Amino acid sequence: MNTIDNDGRVVALVPAAGRGVRLGEETPKAFVPVGGTPMVRLAVDGLLASGVVDRVVVMVPADFTERAVALLPPSDAVRVVVGGAERTDSVRAGLADAPDAGYFLVHDAARALTPPELIGRIVGELRAGRRAVVPALPVVDTVKSVDAEGVVTGTPDRAALRAVQTPQGFAADLLRTAYAADVLATDDAGLVERLGVAVHTVPGDPLAFKITTPLDLRLAETLIAHRAAL
Ligand code: C5P
Repeated sequence: MNTIDNDGRVVALVPAAGRGVRLGEETPKAFVPVGGTPMVRLAVDGLLASGVVDRVVVMVPADFTERAVALLPPSDAVRVVVGGAERTDSVRAGLADAPDAGYFLVHDAARALTPPELIGRIVGELRAGRRAVVPALPVVDTVKSVDAEGVVTGTPDRAALRAVQTPQGFAADLLRTAYAADVLATDDAGLVERLGVAVHTVPGDPLAFKITTPLDLRLAETLIAHRAAL
């Protein structure tokens, strides 16, 4: 079924309930400041600035709800809900909070500098009838598969590879169906692929990189300091 719901509400789900401390900070990653502003706030600001998102639901650890409410923009368009033990549980909590959604975006808080234009591109494709759309960039490194000993087992054709970013966009019924199965995934589109539904790509943006390592954090700080020039 390929129902086009051009009037559907766009709800952005921002999973920020991980305890992930890979950045070497005490604070969960989404709450780590970049240029003085927590990543989750930057990500939510970007979603609202796109002008194509009707509501944002942020999933946070249970003991971070008050902090999240205090640091997010005071808007009826922004809701904070408690996430779950796994990322999939957190996304499910967001899905449950938005029964009226026509489309969902799922967006990493750690992609804090995602340009609003990219968010607009994803929603434009959804409104044009695509049921699953992800931003993707060509891969610059040659990628190898390896075995348990680290010995190379293959070299996939780089031309056919893409690095996928967020926001990932879906028709709401499709994402709900994908999450009805009790499986774990790091990538929402991966769940949709398992249903045999085509996931389309649009050009991603280098600024939508995921702030994961201390080096990423320094890059993000530098970019924010020169934001006017971006
Ligand atoms: O750990 P990883 O980087 O894969 O987490 C991706 C995103 O999922 C992070 O923004 C993290 O906060 C979120 N997450 C979540 N609930 C969990 C685990 C991770 O919302 N239980």
